[in-house]
Amino acid sequence: MAKTTTTRKSIVILGGSWGGVSLSHYLLHHVVPYLHKAEPSSYEVVLISSSSQAFCRPAAPRAFISDDLFKQEKLFVDIEPQFKQYPSGSFRFLHATATNVDTQARVVTISSHGTNKISTVSFHALVIATGASTPSPLLGFTPGQDVPHLRSNWAAVRAALPTARRVVIAGGGPTGVEVAGELGEHLNGPMARAWFLLPSAQTKPRVEITLVAATERILPGLRKTLAERAEVYLAALGVKIISGVKVTGVTLSGAGEGKVYGGTVVTLSNGETIKADVYIPCVGTTPNTEFVADKALLAPDGKVETNPKTLRVDKAGEGAKIYALGDASNFAVNPGVHNTLSAVPILAANMKRDLAGMKDGEDRVFEEDLRETQLVPIGKSKGVGAMKGWWLPSFLVWLIKGRDYWLWTTGDIWSGKAWAKEQ
Ligand SMILES: Cc1cc2nc3c(=O)[nH]c(=O)nc-3n(C[C@H](O)[C@H](O)[C@H](O)COP(=O)(O)OP(=O)(O)OC[C@H]3O[C@@H](n4cnc5c(N)ncnc54)[C@H](O)[C@@H]3O)c2cc1C
Repeated sequence: MAKTTTTRKSIVILGGSWGGVSLSHYLLHHVVPYLHKAEPSSYEVVLISSSSQAFCRPAAPRAFISDDLFKQEKLFVDIEPQFKQYPSGSFRFLHATATNVDTQARVVTISSHGTNKISTVSFHALVIATGASTPSPLLGFTPGQDVPHLRSNWAAVRAALPTARRVVIAGGGPTGVEVAGELGEHLNGPMARAWFLLPSAQTKPRVEITLVAATERILPGLRKTLAERAEVYLAALGVKIISGVKVTGVTLSGAGEGKVYGGTVVTLSNGETIKADVYIPCVGTTPNTEFVADKALLAPDGKVETNPKTLRVDKAGEGAKIYALGDASNFAVNPGVHNTLSAVPILAANMKRDLAGMKDGEDRVFEEDLRETQLVPIGKSKGVGAMKGWWLPSFLVWLIKGRDYWLWTTGDIWSGKAWAKEQ
């Protein structure tokens, strides 16, 4: 097995998305230069990712429908060129999938993209930021796969949509509601309105779209009045909601999870069945942590057991210099992009302390803001949401998120401009 050798101490970061790309920039801007003052050219950041491009994942509920809905060069951004700005030797990008992490031997085993060549990378410090997968392959990267795989899934559902007459979406959380809203507008046309301009339910939509929610009402993360407003908007896009029931099975094996969308019957926990030409499960996520050999480092839900204040993986041992961030970690109750980005400077500050062997001073501490925060666009013009406990009108939800699903923010994050100033 090949071993990549370097004289520098490697800070290995797994996962090229919000957590991994942001932290790499932050360390290269603020921590590596600090460490190099004492020991010139002693460290490198090695970012290892199955995906060669950073993807604005929150945009997936609209992006999977058509490439015309977003500028593709903003939606997918090559990772490696974003790091050309740093001194030579300080950064390496490896387009590969971590298949094993041995925290005792301090080695990551990787499988290179395209060739499947197996090699190992030794680490001085390790950050696990490999995110989480959704059951539907339309809504993000699949571990071990890159953009073409995601696009091939998009192509399969796009081929099925024009002839679909019945669509079933499982999951009453924000993703299910967003997917239902986007498909409602795409398949049934813009929101129907009564004469006084309020949305009115479509009584005979072209395509029957059913949203199945296991909870008593959709959007349990938001107050009831906002969920009720969302129901009105969805009805105006021809979406019917069945709440308080779960999807218990589909007759077509793998429907919704592979490239198979057509001709299935969805069974519900109340015994009812619904025919679906397209079925999209938007329920739950699975952390991408199967490569962590020492299962004692994982919480019962499969996330890396992470100190929620310092972002260290304490179970790896004192001074282990092993950390976790983003959806692969249990550092936050609601990880999401906002919490992951807020944690980046805190994690970097604590890594700086560990790497420089600072004994004085105190760790920086992450504190999750648990106030009601969720923005849920419904189609291209409406939405419901709250931020830090404050209700936001539909127009603001559209302005902040719904008009381009955060693409107005991502350029600076992927390029590192957002991280140029120490925070
Ligand atoms: C449809 C949808 C909409 C969302 N909308 C919002 C929103 O509006 N606001 C919000 O705050 N959050 C939102 N989220 C959640 C948000 O997308 C996640 O919190 C965020 O993507 C997590 O970022 P991450 O860096 O942890 O990893 P991810 O974005 O999950 O990316 C993981 C990365 O790791 C790579 N990888 C995986 N396994 C390996 C491996 N073994 N080796 C190497 N690389 C690997 C992948 O290729 C990928 O690049 C949404 C999620 C979904 C699914």
